[in-house]
This record gives sequence, C-alpha cells and structure tokens, in this order.
Amino acid sequence: MTEQNEFDLITIGAGSGGVAGSRRAAVYGARVAIFEESRVGGTCVIRGCVPKKLLMYGGQFRDAFDDAPGYGWASGEALRFDWPILLERKNREIDRLNQIYIEMLGKAGVTLVRQRARLVDTNTVEAGGRRYRAKTIMIATGGRPSLLSIPGIEHAITSDDLLEIAELPRKLLVIGGGYIAVEFASICRGLGAEVTIVIRGQHILNGFDDDIRQALEVEMRRRGIVINAGFQPAGLTPANDGGFTLTGQDGRTFTADQVLCATGRHPNSAGLGLEDVGVKLSKGGAVLADDWSRTSVPNIYAVGDVTDRVNLTPVAIAEGRAFAETLYNNNPLQVNYANIPTAVFTNPAIGTVGLTEHKARAEGFELDIYRTSFRPMKYTLSGREERVMIKLVVDRTTDRVLGCHMLGNDGPEIVQGLAIALNCGATKKDFDRTIGLHPSAAEEFVTLREKV
Ligand code: FAD
Repeated sequence: MTEQNEFDLITIGAGSGGVAGSRRAAVYGARVAIFEESRVGGTCVIRGCVPKKLLMYGGQFRDAFDDAPGYGWASGEALRFDWPILLERKNREIDRLNQIYIEMLGKAGVTLVRQRARLVDTNTVEAGGRRYRAKTIMIATGGRPSLLSIPGIEHAITSDDLLEIAELPRKLLVIGGGYIAVEFASICRGLGAEVTIVIRGQHILNGFDDDIRQALEVEMRRRGIVINAGFQPAGLTPANDGGFTLTGQDGRTFTADQVLCATGRHPNSAGLGLEDVGVKLSKGGAVLADDWSRTSVPNIYAVGDVTDRVNLTPVAIAEGRAFAETLYNNNPLQVNYANIPTAVFTNPAIGTVGLTEHKARAEGFELDIYRTSFRPMKYTLSGREERVMIKLVVDRTTDRVLGCHMLGNDGPEIVQGLAIALNCGATKKDFDRTIGLHPSAAEEFVTLREKV
C-alpha cells in the first residue's frame, strides 16, 4: 500500500451526501478520497431534482401562453415545442453543474477516483483493480429505481430513461402514484403528451395530506391527465404499432407508446461487500445506521438514500455534514429530522411541512383544522379554472401548528419559510398576529379564521 492509497476517509458515492460530507471533512484537514462510478453530483444533479425541475419549468410555459390573452397578449404564430432543444439545454446545464461539483471537490483537496468501489474489509476498498485504505469509510451510494416484478417489465422505462429519451412520448402510461410518478406525468402533460396514470390504491401520493392529494387529482384531471385507481399490473407486452399494452390482474388494459415505471426506489447497497464485512442491512437492503449515521461496523458510516431514512437531497447533505462535523471538527452533530419541508413539483405544485391531518390524528393529537380553497388572482383575468388549497393542522391543546400544506405553484417557496416557524414551535396565535403580505396567496396562511 503506497501513501497515495492511504486516507483518513474513503467515501463511496459522489452524490449529495457523499460530496457534502467529504468536502466538509477535507476542509477540517482529513485526507479524503471519494469514489464515483457514474457522474459526480449523483441522483439530484444528474437524474433527479435538477433535471426534473428544469423540465417542469419547460412544461409550465404552456400555461403562460394559454393565460396570456387574458392579459392582452396575442401571438401571431402557432405554438411549437421542440423536445430536443429542451433536452440539449437541460444536458448543458447538468454538464455545467457536474463540472462545478468536480471543481468543488478538487478545491477542497478531495481525491476523486472515478471507479466503482467495493469493500474488501472494514478499512479497505477495491476499485479499478487497486486497493485503497482508510480509517473511516462512508457509504453514500444512494438509490436506484425499482421495477415491478411482472412479465415484460423490461419494456418499461424509468425516470432515469425519461430524462434522456430522444423523443417525447406522444402517449405515456405512468405506473405508480408517488411523487416521481406524478411529477413526470405532469411534466409530460405540460409538454403535450397524452398521459394516463395507473395506481394500486385509491389516490395518488400516499403519505401526503388527504385533502391536498385529492385536490391535486382534481387539478391533474382538469389538465387532461387520466388517473385510474385500484389497478394491479399483471404484464406488459409490446403492441403491433410499436407501443405497449399493460394488462391488469382484473383484465383491464392500457396502451401507450411509452410506459414509465415509477413504483419506488431501492437503496443502492448490492455488490458493495457490505454484509461480508459485517454491515447490517434492512430487509429492503437499506444500510442500518444510527443517529450518528454509524453502521453496525464502528468505523463504517452511511448517509443519504442508501440508509432509506428520509430520501431527500437536503437530508443527505445534512447527514454528510453532521458526520464530518462529528468526526473531524470535534463538534458532535445529529440531524434534526423534525419538520422537513418537501415539495411535489407537479402543476400545480405541493409544498408541505409537518404532520398531515391523518398522521396527527394517528399520533393522538386533538386537532383544529383550518382549510381554504380559492382561485388565485393570476387566473381571474385569464379565466383558468384552477384552485389553490391551503391547510393548517393545529394541536387544539397547545395551539401549536403541527402541519402546513399547500397546493399551488407558490407552495414550495412559501412552505420553506413556514418550516422555520414550525421549528420555532409557532402557534396558531403567532400565525394570526402576523400581518399578511397583500395581495398574495401566502397571506392566506395568516388569515385563516374558520375551523373546518
Ligand atoms: P445519490 O445522489 O444517489 O448519489 C449516490 C452516488 O453513488 C451516485 O452518483 C452513484 O453513481 C454512486 N455509486 C453508487 N454505487 C457506487 C459504487 N459502488 N462505487 C462508486 N460509486 C457508486 N430530492 C429532493 O430533495 N427534492 C427533489 O425535488 C427530488 N427530486 C427527485 C427526482 C427524481 C427523479 C429522483 C430519482 C430523486 C429525487 N430526489 C429529490 C431525491 C434525491 O435525488 C436524493 O435524495 C439524493 O440524491 C440522495 O443523495 P445521496 O447522496 O444519498 O445519493
């Protein structure tokens, strides 16, 4: 083993968590190597949050064009959308970000090894035929799409594929009702595709507030997305016209020229040698980590989606940084998982933080619920039939606001601010004594008076 192959910390996976933890550790003086088998930046930058949001913006232009005549605008030409242009521009932006990530690692003094890595023992990693040793190992290998196990599923594409597809499907069938499924359905509809969703349960977005998810269904249907509930896929077969047919256990069939399987994600823990060196995994393959992100092997840590705790970029980053603070800055830090705000970038979008009504009741809270639904001012002149919904879940005993939920395109931006209030323990009275910002949708959060 040469000195070049000896490090204080080896990180496997240069995504959100791995990069954040490695940089922070290097800043505190640790000798760090990070291994990446694909592109630096990971899921969020290359095939997740960033490209998806760029495409979402692309899809939203349709609304702006549709609404413009209500404000006196007229355009002479028929609208045309060019998918290859959007794809090329999105890819250019991803390349730029990828480069920035590489430079950030370099500036921090982190050694980047562009190879797939696996553990040989608790201190040794093998990659590209070479061995590397470190006192501490951080597993940050993220997740990957999990496909349904039905015959013919190999004909389906995943969100990874859709972000690179040469031609936008004319007719898209989406299997699944989670946030990735509904976001891609919404994007493709905005860009002009015919979109059908099939879900096993009765409603999309399990785990989100019931009023909000049902209101989103209304808006998605209004935009022409067909949602079929109670459908259990049985098999996928190629059709004569080059498309595909999805058959359900009840005999129902759906045809489309592309089928997107968006039925969840799996932790990326296979083939890493984890179990061989004593790292315990859950039944679903997640690396089991404690509140310090330490695994069952004391010098091996795991952060981000591979631990399947809260699978979001800011959480992976927070876990990576907390790890580095604890180990390399003598500043023991645990991640605060309370009140993590999250969004669904559909059209309209959802912003949400804290407990849903359902979850709060299940936890035994006596609740006051405040809810309003209204047509946003922007659509009064354009005539668009779309409603915003705002909802507060309040603990009746203490008056504390437990959850804020919004359906509406400003939701994600507004709810980030409200997350601070919730973390400070804000009560409904605190909301009430706050003067509204007028005219805005956000002011509704501080003017809700009537309990449901
Ligand atoms: P990742 O970012 O996945 O990084 C893991 C890295 O490890 C990858 O680059 C992989 O190539 C590499 N790797 C794996 N195995 C090895 C190996 N053996 N050797 C070397 N390298 C390896 N989150 C949000 O907060 N907001 C959003 O809007 C959002 N949208 C999303 C949309 C989509 C379509 C998807 C798929 C995810 C989205 N997420 C979003 C989730 C977010 O992307 C993840 O939570 C986040 O990227 C997790 O970071 P991570 O560091 O755990 O893993």
